[in-house]
Parts: sequence; structure tokens; C-alpha cells
Amino acid sequence: MMRKLGSILAFTTAMALSGPAFSQTSPKPDDVRMTWFGITNWYYEIGDTGILVDGVVSQYDEKGAKSDQGLVERAYKALDRGAGVDSIFIGHEHSDHSFDAVSWAKVTGSKIYTSEVACTAAIAKGLPQAQCHPVYGGEVIKVGDNTEVRVVRWLHSMGCDDTSEGGTKGIETFGFLFTVNTSSGKLSWFMSDSGAGGQELVTNRLVNGKDFGSPLGNLAKAVRSTGLGGFDLWQGGPESRVVNQARTLLPVFNIKYFMPQHYGARGGYNILSGLHYAYKEEEQPKLKKVLDEYGVKSFISQNYFDSYSYSAKGVTSLSSDKAKSAMGLPMSGPGPKPQEANPRAGKLECEAD
Ligand SMILES: [Zn+2]
Repeated sequence: MMRKLGSILAFTTAMALSGPAFSQTSPKPDDVRMTWFGITNWYYEIGDTGILVDGVVSQYDEKGAKSDQGLVERAYKALDRGAGVDSIFIGHEHSDHSFDAVSWAKVTGSKIYTSEVACTAAIAKGLPQAQCHPVYGGEVIKVGDNTEVRVVRWLHSMGCDDTSEGGTKGIETFGFLFTVNTSSGKLSWFMSDSGAGGQELVTNRLVNGKDFGSPLGNLAKAVRSTGLGGFDLWQGGPESRVVNQARTLLPVFNIKYFMPQHYGARGGYNILSGLHYAYKEEEQPKLKKVLDEYGVKSFISQNYFDSYSYSAKGVTSLSSDKAKSAMGLPMSGPGPKPQEANPRAGKLECEAD
């Protein structure tokens, strides 16, 4: 855990600063360890730097639900192998993404980077103002010595017949483009916790008359500013229209690996019971076809706390026995509770996709 604040600059105007030449820097890691622990929750370990995304572990969809700080502490202890959490990123202010934000900030002492709306909500729930940093899109946030996070103004998912009415509708939502300098080169991946597709990807987002650019344009600018031609890994797969995103992103950004997420979120989310329904490729045949067409390899998590190593050599699955046993989950496969059918099966792709 690096106890220094990230420096922030806009990627449209400047590159991120690196520390003074005489400062002690962390060695470049060999790989990034990534652990998926439900919905769109990720824990990234990058040498001695730790990053958390979203992080909802409480039963947020129960009536009268409250953030369970004890459960957040338990999940943190299960995940942490020494890197801690230096920064928290939250894509948007919906309870399946931001419900435990204040608890995570309290337990880790880390700063949250998220929308102004989500910061306001967290501060109202007791988060000290200084611990939330509102983002608007275009920022470059340096976390530790080897990692940069580019904030990409993205958009929320929509139903099959919905539109954003010219970019004016939909809660503000951010994706994050990560780059890490490793011992064998620069890695990059894009993570978003929601998203629509098609025309919406090239429609500029307009908020109170201010133009925040189109989601695809924003991502392209972020990628350009990394000096890379794309990103290897895409952590996407929000609940609808993801095939439309795949059709747009895969041909352009040279994506090699896909990690679907945002499943097991609806109808009975309970991190201690295990993933209550599986991600089945055959339930999203259009998406499977596009991924196959571009030779993109999928890494599908079977249960919470599945871990991966991502390096210049590629992506491999890792054992996460320590985390799973700390959470009472089996060492492999789903469970302990038997899985059910996906309540949204048949509605994951639209007629027009
Ligand atoms: Zn949402």
C-alpha cells in the first residue's frame, strides 16, 4: 500500500507526472493479480499497490438493507495479501455498485474516485468530504509508481427500446482505463460497470448543456494518450447491449481477452452463498459469435473471488484458496448454495442487437 496521494491531470492536455528522480520508486511488478468478487467488484494487486473497483458485498437489494461494514472488513481481509487498497474507483451511483462505498473508505482509509452524484451520496452517509474525489472524465490518476488510471466518461446501460434522448438521459457513468508498467512491458485494460451500445456509443453526453463527448470518442482519446494502440483486456459485460459494445470495441482496440462481469447481481445476491447463477455463453449467442470472430478469449469466473494473473505473456487463472476459505466458499466451482437459473435469461440480448 503506497500512502501517497495520486496526482491528477487531464489526458487531453498533459501526461501524468512522475515523482522526482531521487524518490524511492516501487519495483515494476511482473504481473497484475485480478480478483473478481461479485457484480462488478474487482481487486487489482499491482506489486505493493492495491486498487478496488465498486466492491458491493452487502445484500444491497434486501428491504431496508444497510451496508455491512463487518462483511466489508471480512472481504478486505480475505483479499489483502499485503498490497492493501490505495484507491477506490466506482463507476456510478447505483446500489449494486456503490452500496458499500462508505464502508470501504472507512475500512481502508482510501480515497474514492467517482461521479459527483456518488460523492454527494457518500458524504451524506458520513464519508469525510476529503475522502471523495469527484471525476468528470478525462482525468489521469497516478496510483503508486507504476499505475495510471484514465477516467473515461461512459454511459449507463439501457433497455432494448430505450434511447438516451440525444445523450441527455441516463445516470453519469464512468469506465476506467488502467495502464501498468511491468518488468516485461506496459499492460492495459478497460473496465466499465455499465454501458449501452450502438448509436449511444457515438452520441455525445450532454449534462446541463455541457458537452462531455461521446463514450467511444472518450475511450479513443484515453487510449491515444497512453501511447498504445489499444488495450489487451476488456472487463465489460454489463447486462444488456454488450454485444453492441463488443462490435464497436473489438475491431478498433485490438482486444485479446474478455472477462464478463455483472452477473449474479439480481434476485438474491449473497456473497457468502456463492455465485447464485452461472454466466452461460449460450445465453448470449450474439456476443459469443463476435468474440469468436475476433479471436478474443473469455475468462469466465465460476464463483466469487476467482483470481487471474495478467502479464505481457497473457492471462492465466490463479488459485485463490486463501480468500475463498476466509469467505467460506469452496476452493473451486460454485457454491456453497446450489445455483439457480439466471432470472434474466432470454433478456440478455435484444432483437435489434
Ligand atoms: Zn446502474
